[in-house]
Amino acid sequence: GGGRRTLIAGNWKMHMTHLEAIGLVQKLAFTVRGPVLDTVELVVLPPFTALRSVQTLVTGDKLTVGFGAQDLSAHDSGAYTGEVSGGMLAALACQYVTVGHSERRALHAEDDAVVASKARAALRHGVTPIVCVGEGLDTRKAGEHVAYCTTQLDASLDGLSAEQVAGLVIAYEPVWAIGTGEVATPEDAQEVCGALRARLAERFGDETAASVRILYGGSVKAASTAGILAGPDIDGALVGGASLDADEFAQICRIAA
Ligand code: PEP
Repeated sequence: GGGRRTLIAGNWKMHMTHLEAIGLVQKLAFTVRGPVLDTVELVVLPPFTALRSVQTLVTGDKLTVGFGAQDLSAHDSGAYTGEVSGGMLAALACQYVTVGHSERRALHAEDDAVVASKARAALRHGVTPIVCVGEGLDTRKAGEHVAYCTTQLDASLDGLSAEQVAGLVIAYEPVWAIGTGEVATPEDAQEVCGALRARLAERFGDETAASVRILYGGSVKAASTAGILAGPDIDGALVGGASLDADEFAQICRIAA
């Protein structure tokens, strides 16, 4: 909604070798073509080890698939064994990087302060963060999901200017919907995405809030895409499992257009 370009991003998680990635991106690029891409921005988020292959493929063959990474270090360089910096992602022409995915928060103890510092690191290198927030099942059952998500958003954007926030992507991903097959209802997804935009407006101004793209993520499939995207504050989807199937992901993109 709001004149914002629809973004459909595929989070591959820890799937696909670099060779498998080439096959999937090729299939995707040749399945999603033409006018769909006038209205939908199609992005894949492969593991680090596949980024170079994807970059070479989309650049060499001029494929209209964007790409990015699933995480980055909060630091720019140094003694951080096993980490990957924003500068390294920028050098590979990554346009996006997810920060604060619920699996990183849960399995790698990333708190909001870490997420915010990763968002700032990405921005330092011109890579657009996709900042993920979302409540767990207990919070949802207690009816505290809106307050929880707006608070999490606030803390995850700590230290960012309105100008930086204007270019961000936010993803609302209720933890109970990720990988569970239990997609949020369109009403539930819009309730939180609307509240997130309202909070952005309160803190950074209406104009900034209106330019931020807010995605929904959590068990999105082709069958649930139209309902989810009908929400006026929902500008796309972050898709996990279904993004590994080129036909299903392509269908999601077509429906989103
Ligand atoms: C995700 O990992 O961001 C996600 C939304 O996964 P899934 O679509 O598989 O629930």
